Amino acid sequence: MSDPPRRPILKLKFPPAAPPRPEPTPVESAGDRWKCKPCGGVVVITGQEPADQEVRCPACNARLGLAGDFQTADGGGKVRARRLPALRPGA
Ligand SMILES: [Zn+2]
Repeated sequence: MSDPPRRPILKLKFPPAAPPRPEPTPVESAGDRWKCKPCGGVVVITGQEPADQEVRCPACNARLGLAGDFQTADGGGKVRARRLPALRPGA
């Protein structure tokens, strides 16, 4: 007679906790601020927009141009907005 094969004791293993995903933190000063020409509202371009995405004024909903044009220094001369000077906290 042989002993029944000994089976290893199974232990429950919990997978290691996934590292917390860094959440995008909204930062007021992140991005460039532009002034809508039609209404004077402020539009923030974060630089994360797809280049072919239309940028609309949050205040008057005017189409101001493509995000890709906003990511050039002067809006490529095509956008209906003016770049505002960057905010300098503490200045
Ligand atoms: Zn506007």
